[in-house]
Amino acid sequence: MSLKITIIAGATLLLAACNPTAEVKPNATKTAPAIKLYTMSCGKIDISNIAAFSNKGAFDGQSRVFSSSCYLIRHPDGDMMWDAGLPDALAQNPDGMQNGVFHVSVPKTLKSQLDEIGVAPDDIEYFAMSHSHFDHTGNANMFAGAPKWIVDANEHAWMFEEAPAAGIAQLDSFIQFKDKPAIKITSDHDVFGDGSVTIIQTPGHTPGHLALLVKLPKTGNLLLSGDLYHMPESREFRRIPVFNTSPEQTLASMDKFEALAKAENARVIIQHFQQDVDSLPAFPAYAE
Ligand SMILES: [Zn+2]
Repeated sequence: MSLKITIIAGATLLLAACNPTAEVKPNATKTAPAIKLYTMSCGKIDISNIAAFSNKGAFDGQSRVFSSSCYLIRHPDGDMMWDAGLPDALAQNPDGMQNGVFHVSVPKTLKSQLDEIGVAPDDIEYFAMSHSHFDHTGNANMFAGAPKWIVDANEHAWMFEEAPAAGIAQLDSFIQFKDKPAIKITSDHDVFGDGSVTIIQTPGHTPGHLALLVKLPKTGNLLLSGDLYHMPESREFRRIPVFNTSPEQTLASMDKFEALAKAENARVIIQHFQQDVDSLPAFPAYAE
């Protein structure tokens, strides 16, 4: 609670004490919730050839370094983790790991970052991932104790069978969610019921891919992309990775996302693009 709210609430109570007929309306002084958004490093992905990130061959032969970012939102009504990055276990190998064109590494573990701000994974109430690819589910099991797991209904159906069978999701990284009760969403979802944090359905990259709109009183509105876009060129030229589950849905999701960004005057954060990640306060500082 902010000092200002405390003072106003105190004054309201004092007035009520002076006038016994006055009604105390705690909501009368309600302001935007004091949310903190922590941006956390969840690994690094060096890609020697990003050809697969355009179904039109636009990136053939190019290389990029993707950041892997995760976010902790501290809302007065609970903590929410958004995405779970690459697995912390990779940090045990300082040289990282090579898998085809991908070289993945975790210079700093997610757990150590949570420790740094005194947050135990078991204390986090809400957990959601943009989608179930390996670079977003790495530490998912760490949050299996979260009372509220929010997942797109279509993603839920896909992530436990078809995706692992096709080798595009690491079932073991989220196996503890297999029989866990879930809030399976079929429309955009207002997490705290006050409009401050909204999960936005943006299918196409995977069947139930999600983006996140966060409204921060001081910073302004942010739209976290998930993997709707991997880099600015993907957004500018509407590039569709060859491994997306639906090009048509991807384009429709891009339209929806861009219209929302405009309507909400939101700053887009492409989660794999280091410059966007770096535009947010460097951990352990937070956006508010
Ligand atoms: Zn990704």
